[in-house]
Formats: sequence, structure tokens, C-alpha cells
Amino acid sequence: MELVLRNARVVDPLNNIDGLLDIGIEGGKIAAAAAQLPDGKANVDCRGKTIIPGVIDTHVHVTGLLGGHMGYYMLAKSGVTTLIDFAGPVEDIVENAARVGCGLNVGCLNSIRPVDVGSDPDRAKIDEFLEKSLETGAIGLKILGGHYPLTPEASRETILSANARKVIVAIHAGSTEQGSDIEGMREAVGLAQDARLLIAHINSYCRGRHYDPLEEVQQAFQMLRDNTNILSDSYLSIMNGTSGACKDGVPMSAVTCNCLKMLGYEATEEALGKSIQDGVTRVSVEMEKENIPLTREDGYDFWRKKNTDASLSFPVNSRAVALACTSERRVTGGEFLIPLSATDGGGIPRNDMIGRLLALHRLEYLSINDIVCKSSLNASRVFGLENKGHLGVGADADITVLNEGLTDAVLSYANGRQIMKDQVVTGKGAHLITTEAGRATAARNNLPCIIPDLSGSAFYKGF
Ligand SMILES: [Zn+2]
Repeated sequence: MELVLRNARVVDPLNNIDGLLDIGIEGGKIAAAAAQLPDGKANVDCRGKTIIPGVIDTHVHVTGLLGGHMGYYMLAKSGVTTLIDFAGPVEDIVENAARVGCGLNVGCLNSIRPVDVGSDPDRAKIDEFLEKSLETGAIGLKILGGHYPLTPEASRETILSANARKVIVAIHAGSTEQGSDIEGMREAVGLAQDARLLIAHINSYCRGRHYDPLEEVQQAFQMLRDNTNILSDSYLSIMNGTSGACKDGVPMSAVTCNCLKMLGYEATEEALGKSIQDGVTRVSVEMEKENIPLTREDGYDFWRKKNTDASLSFPVNSRAVALACTSERRVTGGEFLIPLSATDGGGIPRNDMIGRLLALHRLEYLSINDIVCKSSLNASRVFGLENKGHLGVGADADITVLNEGLTDAVLSYANGRQIMKDQVVTGKGAHLITTEAGRATAARNNLPCIIPDLSGSAFYKGF
């Protein structure tokens, strides 16, 4: 055996394991999970620690469009082993992942924006854009309705196009008709009809734009109960993430404009600057290795230095809504209503998914099994990654190790290679999660491929 991790509590709900075991790794795969394995070439004592399947953050941003390339490092540092970039551009992912990927497994939903196809593309144009995205390495499309809206018709055709091709399609709710809010979510559910659709960050549609946030979350939950074709994620953060880019004195993102109004500012470049100087809006400031959220003059100066094109966070999410979205189940003790935990992080500095979920474990809101389901197993099923999300023999050796106090990830491996130890990132390169259509692009960019079974995934088949 190349590597043996010894004496840890191993938690693997898929294989019904929760006990003291050794994990043996060979050729990037789990080769054994048993008590007292013989010594390997390398041995790591994990006494007192807890081993879980590698954390999969299904909604992050690590490109020049959103987040920035430091997101890879920031995710690896937090114990993530697999990420899905939820906007692309996929060209940015395949061109940079090998160089800055920190050893992570990387998948991408390519955003379909008016700048690419116009705001009301017909089906042929959408099909063509989808095919090009897949050939460039994406596993599906993201409709960025809340930020860069398409018409409802074009949004629906995008959902149908991806469903016909049996790849993933997700939406940040919103269109040329509806905003990024509970009515936008209702519209998205209606546009999908019976088609499969992942609606991103349910918590962010419940900010009280139409009703009280807790009334909105009840409405969101009812939609998810009534429409089992819809999958969803949510994140645990008060801060959102959006773009600060302005043109002609006005923020270009509709989300940014709404946040400003919500916080009592006008939707102008000048007012946005004031909200940063007031200490309300945080700017993701690029430090040497990671983005740090700063406000007031430090944040303002950086935003100006970037000619306003910096990533921003506004304190607009309800704490109660985030907790409800994380803990609500279909029936008592059953599957989570929102199966995926994500951060919408990456380069947006709020990546500590596992630490945040573990805080809820200490409050007895979630068991360790729940945390594995939310942070890894369910994600592996939605994205057809059958060799991830568990630690059975033959699974990819993607492992996150939690410290004794169950507060943080302290060690992680992807494909059998250490990528982080004590918050120091050691991983290099990346694996690309792509479809058969993306194989050639992956090879051209020195990215080993992982081909998920999307048509057999929980995205298409349910849980
Ligand atoms: Zn996002």
C-alpha cells in the first residue's frame, strides 16, 4: 500500500461505516478500509481525528468572471477536494486549472449570458452554445438570470436543451421579467415544468424583497416539496457575492443594484463607493495568495484601483433562512429538502463550508452523517461522481480529515495525493470533471479527466 491513514474515526454513510479504522490508498484509490492494516510505504497517524469523504463544494467561483483564480487555493485550504465552478467561463477553467488548481478535482457549469448569445437566443443558438461549452470541458450550463438575465423563453429553452443532452443545468433565479428573489424562483420552477433543474442558493431568494424572509423561505420549501424535479443548494453566510463593475456610473449587475437599495443606498457607482467607505459593503481584496474581505478605505482604494471591477459582498442574507435551508428535511429524519450544501465561495472569501456545518454539529442540529451527506455524498450523487462521496474500496482517494475538536479540516487528499495539511496547501495540478465531449480539451490542457455519469445521476434520477 502506498499510504495508510491510521487510527481515525472513519465516517462513511454510504457504506454504513462509523468506527475506528485504517484507510489504505494505492494508485489514487481507496484500496482498503479495515482495522489494523499492515504498514504502507507511508503511514500517517490520525488518532483522535475524523476521516470523511472529500468535501465537494458544488457551487463556487474561481475564474476571472467571478471570484478569481485564488479561489482554488482558498478552497483547498478549507479542506475541499472537489469543486464545481458555477459560472465559468469554461475557457478560463481549462486554461488555468493545471497551473493553479492546487490538486483539486474541478468541474464547471458554463454561464450562458446575453454577452455570449444575446438576451433572447433561439433554441438552435442555445444548442450550439451548449455543444461548444461541452467541447470546451463544461458539464453543463448555468443561467445567471439574477445577474445577466435572459428572457423567460430563452431560459426555458436552455433548461430543455441541457435536459435533451443529459447534462447539468442550473439557474441563479431571475430573467428579463423577474428578479433574483422568491418570485424569480417561482418563475424558474415554472419554466422547468417537468424538466430537471438545479436552482442555486435557495437562501438568497429569501431576503424579504416581497414578504418577510421567513414567509419567503416557507414558500421556497413548498415549491421544493411540490416539484421533485428541482434540486437545490444553499449556503451558510450572511454575506453574498456579486460584482462591483460599473458602467456609465451604474453597477452592471442587477444583484448589486438590489443589494444597494436593500441597504438604503441608491443604485449608482457613487453610492456603491459610499457603501464601501461606510463599512457596509466588503471588497474582496487580492492579497498574495487569497482574497481578504475589506471595507472602508482599504476596500474602497482596491475597488477604485480595479476600475470598479472587483468582487463585492453585501450583508444581505438572513441567518434564520440560512439555518432553515441547511436543516429542513422532506420528512422527519429523512432526506434533506435542500440536498446540497455549498458556499458560493471560491475566490469570494467564505469557503469554510465544513467548519460552518461542524458548528451546527456542536449545536446538535446536524449529525456527522448529515454533514457528510450535505458536504460530499449528495453532491457526488447529483453530479454522477459515483467514485466520490464515499470511502468504499475502489473509490477515488478523496479524503478530508477533521481535527479532534471537530471544528476544522486539517488534512486532505485528492486522488491519493495530499493537497492540504494544517491549512498549508500542498496540492498541484487538477483533474477535470468533464463529459466525453470535453476529453480532447482536457488532454490539450494537461488535465486528467473524470467523466461523471450525468444521465444516471441523482440530477436526472432523483435520490
Ligand atoms: Zn454563484
